[in-house]
Amino acid sequence: YYVPKIYCRGPNPAPQREDLLAQHVLLGPMEWYLCGEDPAFGFPKLEQANKPSHLCGRVFKVGEPTYSCRDCAVDPTCVLCMECFLGSIHREHRYRMTTSGGGGFCDCGDTEAWKEGPYCQKHELNTSETAEEEDPLVHLPEDMVVRAYNIFAITFKYAVDILTWEKENELPGLEMIEKSDTYYCMLFNDEVHTYEQVIYTLQKAVNCTQKEAIGFATTVDRDGRRSVRYGDFQYCDQAKSVIVRNTSRQTKPLKVQVMHSSIVAHQSFGLKLLTWLGSVIGYSDGLRRILCQVGLQEGPDGENSSLVDKLMLYDSKLWKGARNVYHQLFMSSLLMDLKYKKLFAIRFARNYRQLQRDYMEDDHERAVSVAALSVQLFTVPTLARMLITEENLMTTIIKTFMDHLRHRDIQGRFQFERYTALQAFKFRRVQSLIVDLKYVLISKPTEWSDDLRHKFLEGFDAFLELLKCMQGMDPITRQVGQHIEMEPEWEAAFTLQMKLTLVISMMQDWCALDEKVLIEAYKKCLTVLMQCHSGFTDGEQPIVLSMCGHSVETIRYCVSQEKVSIHLPVSRLLAGLHVLLSKTEVAYKFPELLPLSELSPPMLIEHPLRCLVLCAQVHAGMWRRNGFSLVNQIYYYHNVKCRREMFDKDIVMLQTGVSMMDPNHFLMIMLSRFELYQIFSTPDYGKRFSTENTNKDVVQQNNTLIEEMLYLIIMIVGERFSPGIGQVNATDEIKREIIHQLSIRPMAHSELVKALPEDENRETGMESVIEEVACFKKPGLTGRGLYELKPECARNFNLYFYHFSRAEQSKAEEAQRKLKRQNREDTALPPPALPPFCPLFASLVNILQSDVMLCIMGTILQWAVEHNGYAWSESMLQRVLHLLGMALQEEKQHLENLSEENVVTFTFTQKISRPGEAPNNSPSILAMLETLQNAPHLEVHKDMIRWILKTFNTIKKLRESSSTSPVAETEGNIMEESSRDKDKAERKRKAEIARLRREKIMAQMSEMQRHFINENKELFQQTLEELDTSTSGVHENSPVISDAKLTALGPEQTRVAEHRQVVMCILCQEEQEVKVDSRAMVLAAFIQRSTVLSKNRNKTTPDPEKYDPLFMHPDLSCGTHTGSCGHIMHAHCWQRYFDAVQAKEQRRQQRLRVHTSYDVENGEFLCPLCECLSNTVIPLLPPPRVLFNRLDFSGQPNLTQWIKTISQQLKGLYLLRDEDSASNSGNSEKMDQLQLPEGFRPDFKPKNPYSESIKEMLTTFGTATYKVGLKVHPNEEDPRVPIMCWGSCAYTIQTIERILADEDKPLFGHLPCRQDDCLTSLTRFAAAHWTVSSLPAVQAHFCTLLASLVPNEKNGNLPCILDIDMFHLLVSLVLSFPAIHCQDFSGVSLGTGDLHLFHLVTMAHIIQILLTSSTEENGMDQENTNSEEEVAVLTLYKFLCQCTGSALKEISSGWHLWRNLKAGIMPFLRCSALFFHYLNGVPAPSEIQGTVCFVLAFQDISIYGQNELESYLYARESNKLIDLPDDYSCLINQASNFSCPKSGGDKSRAPTLCLVCGTMLCSQSYCCQTELEGEDVGACTAHTYTCGSGVGIFLRVRECQVLFLAGKTKGCFYPPPYLDDYGETDQGLRRGNPLHLCKERFKKIQKLWQQHSITEEIGHAQEANQTLVGIDWQHL
Ligand SMILES: [Zn+2]
Ligand SMILES: [Zn+2]
Ligand SMILES: [Zn+2]
Ligand SMILES: [Zn+2]
Ligand SMILES: [Zn+2]
Ligand SMILES: [Zn+2]
Ligand SMILES: [Zn+2]
Repeated sequence: YYVPKIYCRGPNPAPQREDLLAQHVLLGPMEWYLCGEDPAFGFPKLEQANKPSHLCGRVFKVGEPTYSCRDCAVDPTCVLCMECFLGSIHREHRYRMTTSGGGGFCDCGDTEAWKEGPYCQKHELNTSETAEEEDPLVHLPEDMVVRAYNIFAITFKYAVDILTWEKENELPGLEMIEKSDTYYCMLFNDEVHTYEQVIYTLQKAVNCTQKEAIGFATTVDRDGRRSVRYGDFQYCDQAKSVIVRNTSRQTKPLKVQVMHSSIVAHQSFGLKLLTWLGSVIGYSDGLRRILCQVGLQEGPDGENSSLVDKLMLYDSKLWKGARNVYHQLFMSSLLMDLKYKKLFAIRFARNYRQLQRDYMEDDHERAVSVAALSVQLFTVPTLARMLITEENLMTTIIKTFMDHLRHRDIQGRFQFERYTALQAFKFRRVQSLIVDLKYVLISKPTEWSDDLRHKFLEGFDAFLELLKCMQGMDPITRQVGQHIEMEPEWEAAFTLQMKLTLVISMMQDWCALDEKVLIEAYKKCLTVLMQCHSGFTDGEQPIVLSMCGHSVETIRYCVSQEKVSIHLPVSRLLAGLHVLLSKTEVAYKFPELLPLSELSPPMLIEHPLRCLVLCAQVHAGMWRRNGFSLVNQIYYYHNVKCRREMFDKDIVMLQTGVSMMDPNHFLMIMLSRFELYQIFSTPDYGKRFSTENTNKDVVQQNNTLIEEMLYLIIMIVGERFSPGIGQVNATDEIKREIIHQLSIRPMAHSELVKALPEDENRETGMESVIEEVACFKKPGLTGRGLYELKPECARNFNLYFYHFSRAEQSKAEEAQRKLKRQNREDTALPPPALPPFCPLFASLVNILQSDVMLCIMGTILQWAVEHNGYAWSESMLQRVLHLLGMALQEEKQHLENLSEENVVTFTFTQKISRPGEAPNNSPSILAMLETLQNAPHLEVHKDMIRWILKTFNTIKKLRESSSTSPVAETEGNIMEESSRDKDKAERKRKAEIARLRREKIMAQMSEMQRHFINENKELFQQTLEELDTSTSGVHENSPVISDAKLTALGPEQTRVAEHRQVVMCILCQEEQEVKVDSRAMVLAAFIQRSTVLSKNRNKTTPDPEKYDPLFMHPDLSCGTHTGSCGHIMHAHCWQRYFDAVQAKEQRRQQRLRVHTSYDVENGEFLCPLCECLSNTVIPLLPPPRVLFNRLDFSGQPNLTQWIKTISQQLKGLYLLRDEDSASNSGNSEKMDQLQLPEGFRPDFKPKNPYSESIKEMLTTFGTATYKVGLKVHPNEEDPRVPIMCWGSCAYTIQTIERILADEDKPLFGHLPCRQDDCLTSLTRFAAAHWTVSSLPAVQAHFCTLLASLVPNEKNGNLPCILDIDMFHLLVSLVLSFPAIHCQDFSGVSLGTGDLHLFHLVTMAHIIQILLTSSTEENGMDQENTNSEEEVAVLTLYKFLCQCTGSALKEISSGWHLWRNLKAGIMPFLRCSALFFHYLNGVPAPSEIQGTVCFVLAFQDISIYGQNELESYLYARESNKLIDLPDDYSCLINQASNFSCPKSGGDKSRAPTLCLVCGTMLCSQSYCCQTELEGEDVGACTAHTYTCGSGVGIFLRVRECQVLFLAGKTKGCFYPPPYLDDYGETDQGLRRGNPLHLCKERFKKIQKLWQQHSITEEIGHAQEANQTLVGIDWQHL
């Protein structure tokens, strides 16, 4: 009754009010009833009485970090929460870290999940008094048990009933009390429609704003439903029909329901109740068990009528929010109670088919489906075993899977060819069943019951049925004549194969564990294989092949003409089982139980052989017309993801075949399938073949096929590193893989992992052996750590390793030969020694000495000897040599391992010494080899042939020593020796030639160098000079000590010898001198707004049109930085280049809308030499001061006099200006009254000394600074232009001073060239800029600036001196001063003015510091040495106190003040030193101590005294990026606790951390988009505008990726500063290795930021990778 009165009273939900009322009216009383007392006492009591669980069970939030131990977890799905992990032993193990996708819970305390250390410290305590099967109900009072039963039964049932209720207008079992006409139009979520579609539709349907629509859409996506309209039925129904109409055009319409408000209200309350139940059972295990009982109790309708069943079966019809709520309840109740977990698992297994069917119909992600709970149940080993034996789960899963793949061809095989979109969608969903099957199989049984055997084999049967449907699927036929028209569908079949790969492997693992099961499985598999191929060999014509006196019967079949399929899972499974027979020795123990006699080797090998021949033919180019799909299939067939159950097993099957049949027969069949039988069986065929002028393509094809066939034989004999085939163990296998990977090149850990197959636990087994075969090399500042092959492992290198791709093979060959040359060894790469075969495969080696084999080898050698025509290739010979080598190795090993009673049956050496029989009369193989050794055209193979002959002799000796006494040197040996000598001589000669050539080249080069120096003598001298000056700078770097010789400032300024500066244009390569009257030379430059030095990031940016930048606030919240790559061009060359770029861009944009890394419309371009992003150019100028310095007379005024004069001059100027504006209204009288200082001529207009071209560039750069710095439209007339130029100069110097200070580098001589050049030009430019701007404007600026220090009556309303950055003030004053000085002809030098200005500003700065320094003394002044400075400071301070009244505290000692002053003024002095150095071109710095100025009379100081004393610390610390934690998981955890600030507590999908200020943002999401300059931008872009004036550095926490942003269109990703133990980053957190902060790399990022190089970095990244340009960075 109360429910509708509380819930859903209006169009919008009011959750707080509703919850409050519900708690008060509805839930509160139930809690009272349950506890029998005030729940505020009752619940804590329960909690206390409860024996806390030893299971953690914490349910993961989206994005929360989870940990799995690679050493101890039973399977990778066993995870710990962060808290448990930190308290567990696994911290010290090899662990893996991932972020949770939500759902799932912590497995801490689950003894079945961990091989070791199942408890963390916290949960261990709870296990002390374990009585596992104790009924938790005994802890509860009896009456409470009864009450709990009642209340749980009622509430749970109510909730289930109402949630599963389908009518829109009635209530279940309840009267509609309030039959009011209030309805909701409820919109449901689906995964078909996009956000945009939904938002657009909603705007139309319910007339809402875009913002509201976004809100609705976000909630629908999150909760699964949201009412979009409230009102009477008609009103809602109308909206519904609009939505349905609008969304049904292409797809099925959005689901919309018009529901009565009472129903919605009850449903809301139902959900609330479920949450409430979840929290109540949290208090006590007893209550939890009661709830479980209630939930699983069968209802009146029998099977499937329990509440739990009902919910599960209704799952796919529920909306997302409701599903989440009840899944949570299940996890905290059923899955936490061991007894009921089992019962629930049974219910789940029984409903499995139905649940999967529902899931298949549903379109929601798996994470929100109840089907996803399978991982919680099936991965528990005992449960899985129980479900297999009692519920026949394996069979159920496989059969369910088969049910969903109904599309078959006539033979009953799967067919994916004509899949519709819907079928493809279902196919994707059905794959989750394979994952379930994997879960069930993942823990292998330690002991077998008969029941388990029985049920497993039943499942195996079902599995074979599945494989049978795959055997031979997607068959292909070679396309001749025309190219295929449509690429056939192949991906589905391979997806299936890939997904099943692990399951197939696990099936075999299970079989290996029990002999009986293995035997049965083998039999079953064989039967199925025979079923598959009965009828295969029928219908095809039998033929007889014969060669070398052997003959065999087979069928006529050509891969190139008939159907062939790559998919042979049944054959391959049998091959796998066959190996297991050998490995487990079942084959020897119970031969009578095995159907070995039924095996027909030709039948077994037929299909795998066809498949391998297909690969060979594709490689030979015979299948070109079949398109790319085939190429892709072949690729995957060999790929590491599939090969274990495809390619590898085909080789095994051939090995099985050969070991069971006459190798001659095998080879003949093989020749026939390769379609090469004719060539080798007919004598002289080769000869005829080569002389005939047959089609060159065919010959080429045959050559490749022969090569491929030889390669296949090498693999069949050589690949014996799987346990069961050769006598090896699993580590040998993995070691061999690693050795061969590293033979190609050194590799990073992750590269190796990728190249190795993973098992079901995602392990490769690499870590355990890597140390034995490789050394680790740590990474530097970039790049990653690498493993390098140990040199001693090189001898295990096999050139024909079967997992090499062609490219890898040739790379490895090259690398290994190079290595051998470096070690001064011969370059032969002989086959490595191999382990012996297992007995079951032992007879396989005979293939090497079989007659047909010898015939093939002989034929090819013969061709090589004859060396005629092109029907022969070197790689053919190389392979034959390799085979010969293998055979010899084999024989040698046989001899070495010879025991008494054994007879050596392997007599290869004898056979190859025998000459061919009549009618051929060909020479013996050995003889041919000896001939070839001296063949001139086989230089590369000589070393190998020599190695073969040597081995041959060794074997001969071995044989002889075992039989008779040693004989003298054999002929071969002598021959070998002599040939070796000859060879040595030849090599020496070649080396000599090479040496001579090298010397000649060196001589030529040094000649050229000399020539160059002569030609460019001037240039060289100049560089030498420059070198000199910069070294002198290094010596005098202490700014406080004044230097008598060099003075950069004042009338005594050192005159620098003016040297000519000649520079070269990078565009036209012409040289030119930098002079005032010549054409302008410019530097490419990039201006940007910067907040790198900001001490106040919250400042709101003022309106750029009105903002007055004359005074910079000391918080430096936003400055203008200028940088340059230092490349020089002619102004006109640049102009031409820029115009060309602009024109090209315009054309390009018209044609296709390509983005570029630079924005031409904003004046951006790339430096033509280094592609550095630039947006303007700075003109190069000679030192400008020299131009305006006139004769100086000896008597220079002192400061007081100077100020007086200047003030008078200014007054005069003011009057003049007033006069102008008031036009002759009697001001001339005043003019007369005022005595103009001597020599001051205010009407004088100075002449601009610069050439037109330079003037133009001065304007260009000035305007650019103004435009970028203020973010306004360019206006060269604006009086703020010069201010911005001075500001940029001051700011750039400040940033550079900070960088130098941070790195503890001296002020001079340590700047990179480009920065040095940039600062020189920038300072000189800023000093010259006044010549192109309006004189009165600059004069007015000077007046105002000066007035801030020397007040006059004209300029009121100036900032307090505490609010002025003094360095900016100094620069502006000094640079605007010439505008006044140029009209002064009294003979006072410009330098005097500079000096006085400097004194004045320094003094002001000292006062700033003194006024704001903290004056606590802390008893620190132990030092009582009252030095001169301290006394002076104290005097000044006392004077200040007098002026300001009581605002300052009395201080007795000056020591503390002096210390503050020194620290505070240092950055200013250092900046000033840089400034005057660049301004006046005086090489070494000189500083005047601030204390000199104490004599200054500052009568007006009291004016400022009244102002508030804000505390700016003047020893401003450099800004750093935020501190990052060492362990990356801390960040993940931080991010998982972060929720979107806009959508009320919702978890953010892409939490992103600003590295500048540490703010966490909700990036890349609709919810946090804001409008910026009329465009919607994501949270990051919006943040950059407040935090970094457009530039930002972020860390995307989920992706572990650094993000650089600049403006709205520029961005790039940058490697994060986190590395794993193998020195690699993990972008995207895919591998999950623990990550730790690499301080050096973080510093590097910080430096990029401090140097303002972020934008440049983005530019380079975008130029290098065009795809970055297309990303919508502004949405991040
Ligand atoms: Zn935990
Ligand atoms: Zn724990
Ligand atoms: Zn562990
Ligand atoms: Zn040029
Ligand atoms: Zn450049
Ligand atoms: Zn958000
Ligand atoms: Zn920030």
